[in-house]
Amino acid sequence: MPHAHSSKNLKGRCFLCRKEFPKTGMPTHLKNCKHSPSPDKKSKKETIFRLSIESSAIPLYWLYAEIPGKAKLSLLDEFLREIWLECCGHLSEFKIHGVRYCSTPAEEEERSGKEKSMDYTLDALLSEGDRASYLYDYGTPTELTIHVLDVFQGCSSKKVHLIAQNNTPEIRCIECGKKAELVCSDCLWDDKGWLCETCSCSHKCGPDHLLPIVNSPRVGQCRYTGELK
Ligand SMILES: [Zn+2]
Ligand SMILES: [Zn+2]
Ligand SMILES: [Zn+2]
Ligand SMILES: [Zn+2]
Repeated sequence: MPHAHSSKNLKGRCFLCRKEFPKTGMPTHLKNCKHSPSPDKKSKKETIFRLSIESSAIPLYWLYAEIPGKAKLSLLDEFLREIWLECCGHLSEFKIHGVRYCSTPAEEEERSGKEKSMDYTLDALLSEGDRASYLYDYGTPTELTIHVLDVFQGCSSKKVHLIAQNNTPEIRCIECGKKAELVCSDCLWDDKGWLCETCSCSHKCGPDHLLPIVNSPRVGQCRYTGELK
């Protein structure tokens, strides 16, 4: 797993007030952020889950999101793919209290109860303080840890709201030390794939393995470019 990431830049931004905070201070800040939309009296309130989600392998990648308790796991799956993961439509799964909720459960496994679909709502499975895990792509897996930080009454919404995220980590070119822009998906595994534009031209593996460096725990893996196809 990549360790070229400088651990100096651990901060991230609250998107409600646009201020920066260290990762450890973010949960408390989000609880008290004055800029969080206060539900006006007329609009309907509903149960909202505030989640912290981070990469299990590189916890420098983290985000906070709010999602209605009545939303299905499939909506959270969609959100995670969009913001962090989607490269070629791989399979994914949540693991909650030891049960697997899969994007495409195998018919037989579903019948025997070994796998379930993502057609379950968050409030049916999770409560405040619970932890769950998530995996995208069984071949080249990106694993995430999910923590239910808070369950509260908030404005009704049908979407997942991204409320905070880590700043893009600084990664240096392994050849010259300048800011890395590209990563070789082959050399990534030895933590030797991080390259600046100039050094990438003479990289031994050739241009086919080079991917852009993006702010995601899936950086450099499979064909991930950060662009939705
Ligand atoms: Zn804030
Ligand atoms: Zn892929
Ligand atoms: Zn370089
Ligand atoms: Zn290479």
